[in-house]
Amino acid sequence: MSLRIHNTLSGKVEEFVPLNPPSVLIYTCGVTVYDDSHVGHGRSLIVFDTFRRFLEHLGYRVKFVRNFTDVDDKIINRANRECTDFMTIANRYIARYYQDMEAIRVRPADVEPRVTEHMNEIIEVISKLIDAGVAYEVEGDVYFSVKAFKEYGKLSKRSLEEMEAGARVEPSEKKRDPMDFALWKAAKAGEPFWDSPWGKGRPGWHTECVAMAFKHLGQTIDIHGGGLDLIFPHHENEIAQAEAITGKPFARYWMHNGLVTVGGQKMSKSLGNYVSLKEIYTKYHPDILRLLVLFTHYRSPLDFSWEKMEETQRAYERLKDAITNKELLKKLKVSEKLTETPSLYERAKELQESFFSSLSDDFNTPEALSHVFTLVGELNKVKNRAFEAKEIDKRELEAYEQVADSLLEVLKKIFGLMEDLYPECEVERVVSKELEAGQVMDTRLIELLIEVRSRARRSKQYDIADMVREGLRELGIELEDTPAGTKWKRMG
Ligand SMILES: [Zn+2]
Repeated sequence: MSLRIHNTLSGKVEEFVPLNPPSVLIYTCGVTVYDDSHVGHGRSLIVFDTFRRFLEHLGYRVKFVRNFTDVDDKIINRANRECTDFMTIANRYIARYYQDMEAIRVRPADVEPRVTEHMNEIIEVISKLIDAGVAYEVEGDVYFSVKAFKEYGKLSKRSLEEMEAGARVEPSEKKRDPMDFALWKAAKAGEPFWDSPWGKGRPGWHTECVAMAFKHLGQTIDIHGGGLDLIFPHHENEIAQAEAITGKPFARYWMHNGLVTVGGQKMSKSLGNYVSLKEIYTKYHPDILRLLVLFTHYRSPLDFSWEKMEETQRAYERLKDAITNKELLKKLKVSEKLTETPSLYERAKELQESFFSSLSDDFNTPEALSHVFTLVGELNKVKNRAFEAKEIDKRELEAYEQVADSLLEVLKKIFGLMEDLYPECEVERVVSKELEAGQVMDTRLIELLIEVRSRARRSKQYDIADMVREGLRELGIELEDTPAGTKWKRMG
């Protein structure tokens, strides 16, 4: 089964053929580290993390590079507001980014280069562009001459007239043509700077990805990814610079994910309508966000709402129940009445094939998930029959266990879901860590434990739920389940 993906450059779904299989070289544009990441960033990170896992599952050896923009106007402005230096801000938000990624289980890239550690490479790219006659210096600034690169506009499919109409010149800029873009900016007072052949200054945003991709992946990469909003001008500018130097395609496939909207408007820092990743994973199990993202095709817009989070939570519980119900089935009386192989095997095999063919067809995760939920329905049929009869056939129980286990394996490996399905050790860790530290058990910790208990109950792990209740009782906290939720009080 061959993999087909949509290539923004051709505007078509194409067969995916890497340059040197089984190696696949991927570059995606990372975050500018001046604030916490929100759901819009999270979507792009989850899409490419999942796609990378899928490629690995198909047997490709993926080298994945995702950069950090750690010097930029927004970082400098924040540093000025906080009376600190830009590096303090960048380091703080890189640390917080890693916390977020760990929570939502986005694996680190193989290389995570920072702009400030690639100044020589960036300066080298700019020098080559000047030598090639497509860039020019004016009083310490360097600009790329867009009209000198004939194919400019081929990714975003914009005509020269359209782009000219949208071009702007900032008062501080000295470019010859409004369409040209800055490669190097002469230092302004109070800003960080680096030495260069054009004097002290810092790079514009568009060169870093070219310099880092050249260094860590080579002149032609297989897949360049990012959000739809990066197509123009950022990716268009990357192509112009890279191809003006090498004369070769910069990326063979350009993959862009759709944006996250709120009530139809783009989720963004500037509009103030964003929800941070932290807010999501402190309210919900982090898998719910992954599932929410995967329920939408990566190229379609995703309109975020808390109702959708609730719906996704319910779907997630159904999925989890179907897997963990094998534990309940094991407690039923086991008979040996069935003479033929249970039909569940055949059905699961068909659905698994459909699942992989959906993923191979432009990474259609919602369609793949629909096959997963059909399988959940099949598992539930077996379970309901067994519960009604109060017994289960030995072969059918084996089939259930085997199918549920292989479903869990696929969900873990490719979708990054349910890595902590059996959280006994986590519950113990929460209790012992806090107590060992000699900390006073405060309200927040009690509420956390109540939440752990109710999640355990929802997933029918009553032994864990009881352990939490007993543990709290020993510590002098009594729980009471009411229709409005679980209440607690200190005893004596
Ligand atoms: Zn980039």
